[in-house]
Amino acid sequence: MTKNREKLIEVKHLKKYFPLKTSMFKKGKQVVKAVDDVSFHIYKGETFGLVGESGCGKSTLGRTLNRLYDPTEGKIIFDGRDIASLEQKELQPYRKRMQMIFQDPYSSLNPYMNVEEIIDEPLEIHTKLSKMKRREIIIDILEKVGLQKDDMEKFPHEFSGGQRQRIGIARALAINPDFILCDEAISALDVSIQAQVINMLEDLQTELGLTYLFVAHDLSMVRHISDRIGVMYLGKMVEISPSDELYDKPLHPYTQALLSAIPIPDPMKAQSNKREIITGELPSLIEMEKGCPFRSRCPLAKAICAEKAPQMKEVGSEHFVACHLY
Ligand code: SF4
Repeated sequence: MTKNREKLIEVKHLKKYFPLKTSMFKKGKQVVKAVDDVSFHIYKGETFGLVGESGCGKSTLGRTLNRLYDPTEGKIIFDGRDIASLEQKELQPYRKRMQMIFQDPYSSLNPYMNVEEIIDEPLEIHTKLSKMKRREIIIDILEKVGLQKDDMEKFPHEFSGGQRQRIGIARALAINPDFILCDEAISALDVSIQAQVINMLEDLQTELGLTYLFVAHDLSMVRHISDRIGVMYLGKMVEISPSDELYDKPLHPYTQALLSAIPIPDPMKAQSNKREIITGELPSLIEMEKGCPFRSRCPLAKAICAEKAPQMKEVGSEHFVACHLY
């Protein structure tokens, strides 16, 4: 359930295009439309899940929102200010408030730094606190993520995958952010460890009032942690809904197909579950044709779907869908 109605982030018509190298056989500039006219918002204190097949643009959207990439067009309103076109210096206070947890904790941690140095790095950059005060903060954060003071002297290779992700979370928390982008943050972990990390993220959210954007391809975990979920297809947002409603009553044919592909542990239920397999060709992100981007794979496509791109429509409380069927 959404805990607070105040928006922390509002994304309006955001685009992120990557230019391709020009070829002598193709005229004009070609671009990959990784994020194409996406609008949504995230409330303070909520977890917004972002799902879709690999390559749908969900990670690019997260990274553009965090200003790791410069947007091509559109607005990113963070706590009332549009940060989409801010220069590096003006962005500095926002960088402190927007942190990130990466997919692969091992490659995101410097193997030559011990835990204290890893967590101290953002504190040293973003605060003017003394070394002693920073050390106190590090000890406190390690405890919050289930590690110990003694771990400060150790190096990343001395920890398990789950523990390394806890170090990554501790580093993200060090400077007291408002918002954390969790980019496939649990995908590289064992299933048993995934649940522990999710529970810890939820506890930290309650304790510290954090707001999360949770990017993932594992749909069962996303349901567990998210208040609302956005579904992306080929750089576009196609459905946004409260989490339980999306799983109980998915409306967009693409969401229906994605959800029906989730493995069901109970063999009896699995037998009775009618799976919607996505067939048809995946269109190019470079030369998008007019109409609905899902139409070449959609079993319900009509004539209008080839003519006109569907716009996002509100079909219920906080439930939006971009499909001509609604
Ligand atoms: Fe299918 Fe048409 Fe809806 Fe696109 S707009 S998802 S093609 S029914």
